[in-house]
Amino acid sequence: MTTPESPAAQTQHAIEKPIERSIDIVVPAFNEEACIEAFYERTAAVIAGLPYTFRLLFIDDGSHDGTAARCLALAQRDPRVGLLRFSRNFGHQAALTAGLDAADADAVITLDADLQHPPEMLPAFIAAWENGAEIVSGVRQGARTASLGKRMSSALFYRFLNTISPVHVTPDSPDFRLLDAKAVRAIRRLREQSRFLRGIYSWVGFKQVELPYEEGDRQAGGTHYGAGDMLLFALRAVLSFSRAPLRLATYLGLAVSGLAFAFGVYAIVMNVVFHEVIRGWTSLAALVSFLSGVQLLTLGVLGEYMGQVLEESKQRPLYLVAETRLPELAGKRPEQPASLPSRA
Ligand code: UDP
Ligand code: MG
Repeated sequence: MTTPESPAAQTQHAIEKPIERSIDIVVPAFNEEACIEAFYERTAAVIAGLPYTFRLLFIDDGSHDGTAARCLALAQRDPRVGLLRFSRNFGHQAALTAGLDAADADAVITLDADLQHPPEMLPAFIAAWENGAEIVSGVRQGARTASLGKRMSSALFYRFLNTISPVHVTPDSPDFRLLDAKAVRAIRRLREQSRFLRGIYSWVGFKQVELPYEEGDRQAGGTHYGAGDMLLFALRAVLSFSRAPLRLATYLGLAVSGLAFAFGVYAIVMNVVFHEVIRGWTSLAALVSFLSGVQLLTLGVLGEYMGQVLEESKQRPLYLVAETRLPELAGKRPEQPASLPSRA
């Protein structure tokens, strides 16, 4: 018998509430034709018993395969399924953003199409939401399917980011989340080009709850994020959420100037007082290369931030939609102000 305190009992209690609130499930998919069906079957089975009005919104991020066709076939069978198809690939973060923009529900759940985020966790996410959480985040536990290199670099990255940035991002907390309509409305107001949603989720605040989950195996295909993409992703996160590298450049400049000054004084004293000229080429070459290195590094840091300012100043849309097939909003009650978010 389950005790009243156990999570299972809480879940059961919450999902037995006789209210029909709406939940939109947002699923970014890029070349996932081999995953869509399985994803749908497992998710549909999980939500079948839950007393909410669900919609399943696939965001096809410019796939080259039959992802969109699979989603449209599902939409034929199940009127709760919808599709937004991008005009080209804009990236996972843009796809999630489009899903949050298109959603129109009391809560939005985001999860990956490859089944690495188990849909079986949804009842627990919803129960946490019913118990007052405004953002519920899945936190990966146990053995991960990613390579050792990816796991180690990810751990290092989060430690570094949390040290230099004022926002706290929980490691191993990918974009597997439930967001209350209030949080969705807040996030919609942040239109920055350089998007690192995990930082944004933390930045917006709200009542946050973390739930552990075991990562599933990828249903089919391989990851779309290689080492280069991960590096770019990390760079974007640092540039968006920390100015520490700029300050570091200032400190580095100060430190090097101090050293150079001390060396200058030393060289003059040696020459004037002891009539000894410091012997030439090696020390000069070492100094010049060191100083140019520091200068180029500092310029590089400045350049990265300037590049970001340039991107932001263009104010380009975060994504472009080529095709929209959204399901009707069925059975929405007019007295639900939280479920009708305004778009930025
Ligand atoms: N994805 C996307 N656009 C991209 C790359 C990936 O929408 O440019 C989707 C992909 O279909 C999957 C999710 O984002 O549903 C996570 O991608 P992936 O599984 O490749 O990343 P990993 O889980 O290896 O970090
Ligand atoms: Mg994946």
